[in-house]
Amino acid sequence: MSSKIWLSSPHMGGTEQGFVNEAFETNWIAPLGPNVNGFENDLSLFLGNDTHVAALSSGTAGLHLGLVLLGVKAGDEVICQSMTFSASANPIAYVGAKPVFVDSETDTWNMSPELLETAIKARIAAGVTPKAIIPVHLYGMPAKMPEIMAIANRYNIPVLEDAAEALGSSIDGRKCGTFGEIGVLSFNGNKIITTSGGGALVSHNSDLVKETRFLSTQARDEAPHYQHSKIGYNYRISNLCAGVGRGQMEVLPNRIQQRRDNYERYYSRYNGKKGIHFVTEPTGYFSNRWLSTILIDPAVAGFSREGLRLAMDKENIECRPLWKPMHMQPIFEQYEFFGNGTSEMLFANGLCLPSGSNLTDADFDRIFKVMDGFVK
Ligand SMILES: *Cc1c(COP(=O)(O)O)cnc(C)c1O
Repeated sequence: MSSKIWLSSPHMGGTEQGFVNEAFETNWIAPLGPNVNGFENDLSLFLGNDTHVAALSSGTAGLHLGLVLLGVKAGDEVICQSMTFSASANPIAYVGAKPVFVDSETDTWNMSPELLETAIKARIAAGVTPKAIIPVHLYGMPAKMPEIMAIANRYNIPVLEDAAEALGSSIDGRKCGTFGEIGVLSFNGNKIITTSGGGALVSHNSDLVKETRFLSTQARDEAPHYQHSKIGYNYRISNLCAGVGRGQMEVLPNRIQQRRDNYERYYSRYNGKKGIHFVTEPTGYFSNRWLSTILIDPAVAGFSREGLRLAMDKENIECRPLWKPMHMQPIFEQYEFFGNGTSEMLFANGLCLPSGSNLTDADFDRIFKVMDGFVK
């Protein structure tokens, strides 16, 4: 059997180990240290636009702290994109709040601004103003942030931007993660860069980021003994993981280019084929193309998403259906949902293709061999 081709696997640049070794040599084996500060500086320089960054143990931790910082409490409502990974919505449950799910539009596959406004109006009419809005830049494609921010500002609801999949994506040069009051990044093993596990909270508001560092290290008040006046969390990134992150930041521009090149290879070979559809960048939008994805219309293409996925699997090539929307998940299906059919259609017909920045020409030969047998 030929070796496995993964959907998206870690891709070290080479300098990561040096930063980790330095941590060992100086005994900074802790959730603080020079790599943590260095990684945060690298990230805020990359994001630009006067952003402050707190590096954390995961993106999920960032979303949880984001809700805490926005004052979301038990019984509150939070609007969340339905077409996403569960980690966007789980933190709403951590704080005891209720999600209200909103469907996608077809240009970017992310939160529909029209349905967002419909949802806000309906919830206000029912007597509850949502406390936060969580849009997601799925697969690296930016959500329609100018429209979403305009609506959020009109109703005075803060935006918690889930940019876990979109480090390096932008709209008119402005980086994803820097549009909302708070943005969140992830450095999990499958993301565009990885610290093995890690995340970050991003904000223009330096007080929010300072508070994030405080809350994520157990909320210790200044005192020689352990003194607490707030509930704390153990959510800071370790200095070892942050060392991996510093090395990865050196190759981030390459990783974005490599992922975009992957997309280009699929697009140039299969765009325009019967029943095959790609999601393209609206004018001014720049996607890091974390994952390359296609939609298959089975009636036109003559084959289904599952047919292709299983054939790939047989050749030891990992593909995955597009994420199953949150409003269809057993754990979330009892919550309010404002829908238009888009995310259900995406889940029925969409496939994530191998997208690692470390894919070789030989890997693509194997992938294309299977796909060419289907796509006419
Ligand atoms: C990966 C991911 C997260 C969670 O990040 P972790 O670092 O794995 O906790 C959140 N939202 C989305 C959309 C993700 O893809």
